[in-house]
Amino acid sequence: MEHACLVGVFTRREMRAEADQHLEELRELALSAGARVKQSVLQFRPRLDPAYLIGSGKAEEIAQRVREQALDLVIFDETLSPAQQRNLESALHCKVVDRSALILDIFAQRARTREGKLQVELAQLNYLLPRLTGSGVALSRLGGGIGTRGPGETKLEMDRRRIRARISQIRAEIEKVRRHRQLHRTRRRGVPVPVVTLVGYTNAGKSTLFTALTRSATLRSDRMFATLDPLVRRIHLPSSGDVLLTDTVGFVRKLPPDLVAAFRATLEEIGEADLLLHVVDRSQENYRDQMRAVEEILADLGFCEVPILIVFNKVDLLPGALADERDVDSVAVSALKGAGLQELRAAMDRRLQNRTRPGTV
Ligand code: GDP
Ligand code: MG
Repeated sequence: MEHACLVGVFTRREMRAEADQHLEELRELALSAGARVKQSVLQFRPRLDPAYLIGSGKAEEIAQRVREQALDLVIFDETLSPAQQRNLESALHCKVVDRSALILDIFAQRARTREGKLQVELAQLNYLLPRLTGSGVALSRLGGGIGTRGPGETKLEMDRRRIRARISQIRAEIEKVRRHRQLHRTRRRGVPVPVVTLVGYTNAGKSTLFTALTRSATLRSDRMFATLDPLVRRIHLPSSGDVLLTDTVGFVRKLPPDLVAAFRATLEEIGEADLLLHVVDRSQENYRDQMRAVEEILADLGFCEVPILIVFNKVDLLPGALADERDVDSVAVSALKGAGLQELRAAMDRRLQNRTRPGTV
């Protein structure tokens, strides 16, 4: 596990609360990518430095922390230009990545479908290409780990010529996959098991809920689904019978525009779901904003037709009842404490009973 320092740079002091939230989210992302966060640094600067983003005093302070704590990695919340990234690497004497590289790394670990993997690799290579110096020696010293991990178990190519060749190969493959998608869809629809997919903001508690709902199910030996992805599990509901539950990568603030195609492809299976569980961290003050952000992303991705059940999570952190929000379209739970799960299962069951499967596109 790599040890990391987080850096957030903000232009106004009034952004303090927002800045803390962004860094907290960055911390969660770093954790998802497999890094342990040892330090975090905030800087307020009216003007961002074109060469280093941060001021030189701050850079020295970070370099010192990197030395003293033997950190492997510094993660910036802002998108860094290739030049800024290079300058920072020589100033800090360690690997420097930005939010985009971090998110791509998570997508690389999570991409499941053929197109998802191709799209993620394409975005990664497009990100790497302008960042290679000379023949690519600068990056090759970094070895595996965040920023160089390819989809699946592969490692990204570091040679500029090979990257270019791989990019055109991927583009051609994506075209081919797209042409065949119609066929795949029809075949997948043939699976008689309803699919329920967890979506929501990063850190909302999707994976915790996934584990809580599938804990008893996974104890049983289950040959039929044994070869499936670890993020897909079977659960049993009283009326609907066997149901496949899928965990997904979380939505994030400030998704870099270059990553939209990869993000979309990683979430392709949302379109195949019979029901979405929109997991919301109800303990967040701005949970309504986060809900809206998720709904907008779902609409942007063209998934408005899939039925949604809202799951208000982390209610253990809230004193008092949530009477005002208990309507047919939402359930309140604590994935961590296992509260409300019975009610959630019943609500899922009801929604699946009422469903009408969308016709084949
Ligand atoms: P994901 O990004 O949506 O998959 O979120 P995770 O399942 O990884 O959870 C993010 C954090 O929230 C973890 O630290 C969990 O322990 C915590 N968490 C999840 N569910 C609950 C809950 O019901 N109550 C509390 N207090 N914390 C929770
Ligand atoms: Mg998760």
